[in-house]
Amino acid sequence: MMPDNCVFCKIMAGEIPAKVVYEDEKVTAIEDINPQAPHHYLIFPRKHVRTTLDLSDADTEMVGHVFQVAGKLARDRGFADQGFRVVNNCNEGAGQSVWHIHFHLLGGRNFSWPPG
Ligand code: AMP
Ligand code: ZN
Repeated sequence: MMPDNCVFCKIMAGEIPAKVVYEDEKVTAIEDINPQAPHHYLIFPRKHVRTTLDLSDADTEMVGHVFQVAGKLARDRGFADQGFRVVNNCNEGAGQSVWHIHFHLLGGRNFSWPPG
């Protein structure tokens, strides 16, 4: 079910504009509106799943697919070899602000560890 107030569901429905960089039957990827790296994309499923804690067996293939799409985008856009990061923030303490599960793909610069 698509919640009325979900920004990513609205983007997929064409109700909010976004720069779509990839889409298929399972996932959509867009440019982040507030990029934290030269390449910053958000990959999310077409199905509305609220957080990582709400994933079920039916979503297992989708999560693996997200990582394949991340690798494809990194290769196609030329930052795979330099190194990149795929991040999922779950719940407020980790910085989640959009309640439709998504995976940040960050690249184009070096990243420190541990993360902030
Ligand atoms: P998180 O804080 O992990 O939930 O990540 C949410 C991300 O969504 C943030 O990096 C925001 O900049 C990004 N974001 C929020 N609204 C939009 C939008 N309309 N288009 C693109 N990115 C967005
Ligand atoms: Zn949604």
